[in-house]
Parts: sequence; C-alpha cells; structure tokens
Amino acid sequence: MTDTDVLIIGGGISGLATAWWLAQAGVSVQVWEADQRMGGKIKSHQQDGYLTERAASLLMNFRPEVAQLVHEAGLDEVKTRRTSQAQAQRYLLHHGQLQALPMRIGGLLTSPLWSLRGKLRLLLEPFIPAGGRDDESVSQFIRRRLGDEMLEKAMEPFVAGTLSADPDLASAGATLPRLTALERRFGSITAGVLAHKLLRRRTACSTDTFSFRGGMSTLANTLACTPGLQILSNRRVQEVTPCRHGWRVTATTPGGERSLSATHVIMATPAPAAASLLASLDKTLASLLGEIRYAPLAVLHMGLERADIEHPLDGTGFLTPRREQQPFSGNLWMSSLFADRAPQDKTLLTTYLGGARQPEAATWSDTRLVDESLHALTPLLGLKGIPVMVRIDRHSQALPLYHGAHLARDREISQQLHALPGLHVEANYRGGVSVRDRIARGRSLARHICTQLQTNTQGLSADTLISLPADR
Ligand SMILES: Cc1cc2nc3c(=O)[nH]c(=O)nc-3n(C[C@H](O)[C@H](O)[C@H](O)COP(=O)(O)OP(=O)(O)OC[C@H]3O[C@@H](n4cnc5c(N)ncnc54)[C@H](O)[C@@H]3O)c2cc1C
Repeated sequence: MTDTDVLIIGGGISGLATAWWLAQAGVSVQVWEADQRMGGKIKSHQQDGYLTERAASLLMNFRPEVAQLVHEAGLDEVKTRRTSQAQAQRYLLHHGQLQALPMRIGGLLTSPLWSLRGKLRLLLEPFIPAGGRDDESVSQFIRRRLGDEMLEKAMEPFVAGTLSADPDLASAGATLPRLTALERRFGSITAGVLAHKLLRRRTACSTDTFSFRGGMSTLANTLACTPGLQILSNRRVQEVTPCRHGWRVTATTPGGERSLSATHVIMATPAPAAASLLASLDKTLASLLGEIRYAPLAVLHMGLERADIEHPLDGTGFLTPRREQQPFSGNLWMSSLFADRAPQDKTLLTTYLGGARQPEAATWSDTRLVDESLHALTPLLGLKGIPVMVRIDRHSQALPLYHGAHLARDREISQQLHALPGLHVEANYRGGVSVRDRIARGRSLARHICTQLQTNTQGLSADTLISLPADR
C-alpha cells in the first residue's frame, strides 16, 4: 500500500542504527541522506599517517544491545581497543598543573585533588534527603547531592568537555539521567550505586571503550552496507505530507525531484532541519524543535614529534575546569588512546575549543586556534617543538544543548507526535548525544515501529519481530 515500510530522513548514526535494527527484523527500509556520504557528524580522516575524527572519536559502551549490534554487524574483528597506557590515567587541570583523576570512588577519598572538607561532603551524600525540582540544573543537582568541589572539579569539566554544555543551564534529568534516576529510585546516589552493583551483577555488560580500524567512519560505512537496506545519498528532503496509508516524502536530487510513500517516516536530522520539515504540518511541534540550541565547536588536531613532548602522555588526556580559564575545554591524547592514530615516533593531540562555555573560540581563525592552544599546552605537556601536522574541523552546530526544561520539552514533542501517527523524530537531541545512546534509542524506536507494523499486518512475520529482544 506504500512504497516502503519505513523511510528514514538522515544518514547519521541515529538514522543508520535505527535502519540496521529495522532491517534485522525484516522491515523494508530506505535511508535518504542530503549529503554525498553517510555518517553525518561522524567522519574519520586519514592524512600523512594520522587518523583524525571530525566528531565522535570513541564509543564508550556498557549496553548489551550496542555490543550486539557491533558483533552482529561483523565489527568485532575491526574493533580497536584503548591501549593499556590510556587506561592508566585521565587528568584534570588543577591550579595550572595536570593532576591524575582518581579512577575509583575509593581513590577519590585519598586524592590530593579534593580538600578534606570536599571529601567529608562527599561522605554525607547518603544522608542528604532526596528532592530537588523537576527542572533542576546539573549544577544545582550536583551541588545539592555532592557539594561544590564535585561540581567544580568533576562535573563542570565533564559537561563542558564532553557535551559542550553549561552545567548551570543544562537540565540534570536530561544530562545525567542515570544519576538522577538513582536518587529517585534509591534516595541517594551512593545507595543506588551499591544496590545497582548487587542487582545488576548477573546481567551487566562491562564498560568497553573502543573505536574501529579506520576510525568511527567504519561503523557508519558498515551499517550503510547492511544487506536489505536501501541507502540513498544526495537526497535532501524538502517536504513530508500525509497520504492515504502513511506519509509522502519529497526530496531534491541531482537528477530532479523524487517522491516516495512510507508507512512510517523517521526524521533523524538535526532539530532545525526537522523543525523546518514539520513547519507546515504542526507549528507547535516545529516551534518546540526550533527551541533546541546547539553549541559551536572547533576541533584542532595537531601532530607532533614524540620526542618534542616531555609529558609521558600516559592516559586519555585532560579536561579543564572553567576556573582554570583555558582557551579549550579538553585535550585528548589520541595516539595514546589508540595504537593506530599517528605514525611511528609521532603524537596526535586533539583539542576542543568553543562550546557553550566559550562559543566565540569556535570562530577564531586557524592561526589563532593553533597559537592559543600551543601557548596553553606548552607548559602543561612540556612541548619543545612545533606541530608537524595541523588539521581543523569546524562545527557551527556541533552538539544539541540539553539546556533549560529539556525533558519537559521532549515530553511535549512526544505528545505532539501522537497526533501524527507513523511520524517519528529521533536524533541526538533526544535521549543522549553519544553513539552508544544513538544505537540504543534506535533499537527502542525500531521495536516500537515493528510492533505497529505487526498490528497493521503489513507483511511482517511475527518471527522476525521476536528477533529484536525486549528492552533491558
Ligand atoms: C566534536 C564532537 C565530538 C564528539 N565525540 C564523541 C565521542 O567521542 N563519542 C560519542 O559517543 N559521541 C561523540 N560525539 C557525539 C556524536 O558524534 C553525535 O551526537 C552523533 O554522531 C550525531 O548523530 P545523529 O545521527 O543524531 O546526527 P547527525 O550526525 O547530525 O546526522 C544527521 C543527518 O541528517 C542529514 N540531513 C539533514 N537534513 C536533511 C534533509 N533535509 N534531508 C536528508 N538528510 C538530511 C545530515 O546531512 C546528517 O547526515 C561528538 C560530537 C562532536 C560534534
């Protein structure tokens, strides 16, 4: 009755992962991508023996369904695990010096990074009554439960460095869903962690941090080659309109306009693109999506002679708390993280500038980005030489900011979508920006669509649906 069961608009990891799950269940799926290539933000680049990443550089996984996708897509053999030296340390800039961050809670209590007062405050956590407003910010939540030092030395640099967000504005529930859920369920984070450890012992998937040979693009390219999937690039969707049994999607292509009908349409584009596609269908929904702001980011990759760096680079890199007033939020030691990121005797350092904390830095000229970063890195790492390779990736809209009443807005988005059956909106501004969360959310959406298709008996066998295991 329609040309395809599902049409996915956008071939980033959100679209590709959802397509992969649907294809496993025997659903007919097409992915229409505006760009020439698949992967969206994810793009690995090889240059002079260096492997750089435009966006995601690693997958930090603790979810069984992500391990399942990696395994069943045949990617286990090309996984690149963190080197043992990268597992040794991660650093924090503290009073102008790089200090090793404790890797475990116990280590935190003996670390010189935390004052005695800060440590005592942490120990009080189980006795702090549960509470807090629904729209509490990350800063309010962490200050209330764990104190100022935990916010300044751990959470602020983490939120700025990995999400480009501002903890004073970021919604605690949307940004730290696991921590806020522990408080809700167990009354305190400490009680929740202990209970979780006991309860999950049998089913837990241990944390695995990895990339792939050839970089993160290997993941996107492999998913794009899934048998049974129809992946079409150079198709910029212009219009989505209701039709008799679903939705009609129209795109511009180099060969002219193309249209297709689908029972389900998934918008897996950034929020502004989804807002513009929905403007004529539902103004409220379009305006909710239009409220989502993005942070700009410049990603500076520098290759240096290993002999020109005094620091042992025995870790993943370091984050910079706001009070240290550095031009960047973090510096990753990519060639320490993964073995194949730089030529022999060379080092690859990746620095992130901009974000909600200092958006103007993302617009600096190439020369200024390099100069300011080198000026700051030289005393910290003991740099003695100049870079032998420089590459800069710029994002005007790097990551969606889960600022303000993000969860309430997300609930409203879901409610509005109820009035548009068969239309779905799913990308990194909903349910987590990480590649792990994108894969997991793709599976949940695929299951939901499979159930609906089964109800409508659109030629899908119940056996294939059973192959998508229940949510864990
Ligand atoms: C600098 C940086 C570093 C990061 N590091 C990590 C990391 O180490 N680990 C991690 O897990 N995550 C990381 N992330 C996050 C992660 O990379 C992103 O959240 C994720 O890749 C976004 O995927 P997406 O599919 O939701 O969106 P996108 O990748 O933005 O994909 C959306 C797609 O929709 C297409 N599109 C838009 N409009 C249309 C239209 N009208 N018609 C058709 N197609 C359209 C776009 O061309 C694009 O391909 C990082 C992100 C950035 C920016």
